[in-house]
Amino acid sequence: MNLTLADRKRLNQLLEDLAHYRETELGYPVAFDIDIKPLVPFLGYSLNNVGDPWHEAHYRINTREFEREVLAFFAALTHAPEDDWWGYVTNGGTEGNLYGMYLARELFPDGIVYFSRDSHYSVAKNLHFLGMRNIMIRSQPNGEMDYDDLRETIHIRRDAPPIIFANIGTTMTEGRDDIRLIQSILDDMAIDKRYIHSDAALCGGYAAFLDPPPAWNFADGADSISISGHKFFAMPIPCGIVLARKRFVDRVAHSVAYIGTRDTTISGSRSGFTVMGLWWAIRTLGMDGMRARLEQSIELARYAEKTFRQAGIDAKRNKNALTVVFPRPHEQVCDKWQLATAGDISHIVCMPHLRKEQIDALLEDIIASEQPEQGMTA
Ligand SMILES: *Cc1c(COP(=O)(O)O)cnc(C)c1O
Repeated sequence: MNLTLADRKRLNQLLEDLAHYRETELGYPVAFDIDIKPLVPFLGYSLNNVGDPWHEAHYRINTREFEREVLAFFAALTHAPEDDWWGYVTNGGTEGNLYGMYLARELFPDGIVYFSRDSHYSVAKNLHFLGMRNIMIRSQPNGEMDYDDLRETIHIRRDAPPIIFANIGTTMTEGRDDIRLIQSILDDMAIDKRYIHSDAALCGGYAAFLDPPPAWNFADGADSISISGHKFFAMPIPCGIVLARKRFVDRVAHSVAYIGTRDTTISGSRSGFTVMGLWWAIRTLGMDGMRARLEQSIELARYAEKTFRQAGIDAKRNKNALTVVFPRPHEQVCDKWQLATAGDISHIVCMPHLRKEQIDALLEDIIASEQPEQGMTA
């Protein structure tokens, strides 16, 4: 069972590399500031919350009770209807989005999914899995859905129930689709059969604390919401939360009841450890801690936008966004700072663990790379 010296060296090297890469990671919406190492003893158990969080399983090595508390926290955060919500801790935002679309398809098998061009790359894949008809809608320059295009596109297909896949924070620019506005567009057209899913992978971690909050939650008219646990909530293991109106889930549960189980989740086996991590984050931070983390992040995003602009770089940011968008820098700068790029734009996402010095160092590198005959700082 002993590792060879060579293997040991490789592991140490990997640890060193990871520490370095963590320091130069500015492009992805993942936070690193919540330490769940005190939960390490729980890794000694094969924690598995297989199946429905409210349905007791024969397998007792689980953390269902904690999962229900985590879900109740998010239900409150998303203004879920008191006696009509359900959810589970997923393996990530993509699974939550797949789940929302699955519920929508069961409800409206002949529905058409509308999603904007700025949606996450996994959305088209999910819709392909589910075999759902779908139409891509134009986006505004800030990443938000083009509501005129949405209205016109739905208008000519009024016979098919619309299923709207709304982005609450697009991947590239953190544009937020306005669910209240979408609801009013559907009201105007007198369309009753409708479904709205809220993809709040990143922003679901803090939307409730923004002032004013975006129109993203159940009270605003969402039918299901997906949030990533490893983004704003800083879990070191990918995970997520999906919440939905319970009566829609019951329909799905019912449709498989004849095989003898309440099989309401997409994954069968599910991590009971990520549940503990989320619970830890909620309990240790509390509402005040979460609000403070957000304020610090917004402050840093403001700082980044300002200093970039002062340096003559055309940096932009949506209202209250943590994402700062700017013209794509040279390849070597993108590579060093792990910047996400799309076409000719790049971005950084000011997560709670980032510091001003990292922003300053990136800016220095961008400026240096634009001067001919000069390399960037090492
Ligand atoms: C990250 C992200 C996803 C996918 O979430 P994962 O947790 O990586 O599966 C989906 N939509 C948006 C807008 C995202 O930012």
